Amino acid sequence: WSYLIQKHDATRLHYDFRLELDGVLKSWAVTRGPSLDPRAKRLAIRTEDHPIDYGSFEGTIPEGNYGGGTVMLWDRGTWRPVGDPHRGLEEGKLVFRLDGERLKGRWALVRFKSKEQSRRETWLLIKESDEEADQRRDVTEKFTDSVTSHRNMRSIAENETAV
Ligand code: MN
Repeated sequence: WSYLIQKHDATRLHYDFRLELDGVLKSWAVTRGPSLDPRAKRLAIRTEDHPIDYGSFEGTIPEGNYGGGTVMLWDRGTWRPVGDPHRGLEEGKLVFRLDGERLKGRWALVRFKSKEQSRRETWLLIKESDEEADQRRDVTEKFTDSVTSHRNMRSIAENETAV
């Protein structure tokens, strides 16, 4: 199953974390992006499921449209659930392995606030302790270009305006 992250410079910069399940991309908006430090719990707001096709999109969504702003494919690869992913989503604890080009190893998404408590479900994205964990390296600072086109945010934005 595919996994990907789109860095999205919208009203507020965030990283859209997406996992393919049941023919759609289950999605979370991670404001600060992923961290390789198991002590860092990154806020991940559950967002709408997206179509699988959207997972290869990189470019600019015109202002005023839903999700308006520049989108960069920041990571891509595959994921594998640890345990039953449907139950995990339902119960609020999804554990999985990522085999991306940039993110690897064991991760967890843990629900922090349900829809009853908040307008949107709030989850935490957490790196579990393994050989891929790293407390010192900031992975979002290390990789600031696209995993596919190797362009930075500015060049993706400018390319689109020129078309
Ligand atoms: Mn977004």
